[in-house]
Amino acid sequence: MKRTLSILGSTGSIGQQTLKVAQACGHKVAAITVNRSVELAEAQARRFKPSLAVAVEEKAAADLRTRLADTGTKVLSGRGGLLEAASLSEADTVVTAIVGVAGLEPTLAAIECGKRIALANKETLVCAGELVMARAKERGAEIVPVDSEHSAIFQCLQGCRDKGAVRRLIITASGGPFYGKSCEELSLVTKAQALKHPNWAMGAKITIDSATLMNKGLEFIEAMRLYAMPPERIQIVVHRESIVHSLVEFEDGAILAQLGSADMCLPIQYALTWPERTPGPAKPLDLLSCPPLTFQKPDPDTFRCLGLALECAEKGGTSTAILNGANEAAVGLFLEDKIGFLDIPRLVERALEQVPAADRPSLDDILEADQAARGAVYDSVR
Ligand code: NAD
Ligand code: MG
Repeated sequence: MKRTLSILGSTGSIGQQTLKVAQACGHKVAAITVNRSVELAEAQARRFKPSLAVAVEEKAAADLRTRLADTGTKVLSGRGGLLEAASLSEADTVVTAIVGVAGLEPTLAAIECGKRIALANKETLVCAGELVMARAKERGAEIVPVDSEHSAIFQCLQGCRDKGAVRRLIITASGGPFYGKSCEELSLVTKAQALKHPNWAMGAKITIDSATLMNKGLEFIEAMRLYAMPPERIQIVVHRESIVHSLVEFEDGAILAQLGSADMCLPIQYALTWPERTPGPAKPLDLLSCPPLTFQKPDPDTFRCLGLALECAEKGGTSTAILNGANEAAVGLFLEDKIGFLDIPRLVERALEQVPAADRPSLDDILEADQAARGAVYDSVR
């Protein structure tokens, strides 16, 4: 089935790979959005001819409008533009490839319109998962995960006629570039080392999250929300090879896994074509050239971000939004060379202590908690 896509965050790692899939599989692109990277946005617009292109930053949008004046692409700016791209009537599928909680409101807008959501933006489910999943159910909007672990679980569940027969979800973790290091060693790692992921090429924020293991903590919460699973029925195992993307254990003890090369094109494509499978650009996996597959226990004490995320997963309410907001702020500071690697968990932990968490939050409570958490982080480093 050919889809018509609105790609939120088209110039990012997931956005660009979505365009690669669209090109290879013949899906149409109706809208693209970027924060401020106009040069790449112009090239994408010329190639895919969307009817709408959005640059969130006003100046970038003005530049993009001039660049695309000779084309049929309309250019909009700001939050309004983003919401218009998310609800564009021409698009049947919205790919949420924006990084951070900035993706929450556009995702909700797309859900209101009943679109299929190919969901990469995990922060949305971490902050407001219960609210988002409930609204999607009410509006009949399908949420299909793009995150490789959640896509693997989604794929393993396809053959399952008895949803009550799921015993456990098992999420694999590469362990990141610093797996096995002590706290002392972690205190010395540099930004360049943290930005070098052993198995995946991704955007800067998620690459740092993978190094701190916050990414796995966020994914644990994402899985709880997507599959309505309590924390005690989700397990994280370190799997250095990134070949088994995740697994589902059933009541009879059977475990199903999804395997593949470390290539996001496959989960992106499946989120578009599900329940169908079509040929596509993903690199096939050659079992005979795979290294031995290994599985180990994660270390949430040394990788404190994972420990903190697991505590918030238990607590629920706005604690996961505080965790996420503080982490986004701290990772931003780390990427600007303003703090060290171990300051990330330290600042997140402090924000969790300082910002009071509320149960059963509204969207406003969640957005406020996010802002308060960021404020707590910036105050701590001032
Ligand atoms: P990225 O940094 O490479 O790209 C982010 C995109 O969002 C860019 O197009 C950018 O212009 C846009 N953007 C950034 N800030 C914005 C803002 N405030 N408002 C509007 N647009 C903004 O990020 P990525 O690695 O592609 O990740 C995107 C999302 O997908 C993240 O939530 C990440 O956790 C998730 N994800 C990524 C991967 C991966 O392999 N990269 C895998 C699984 C999940
Ligand atoms: Mg993942």
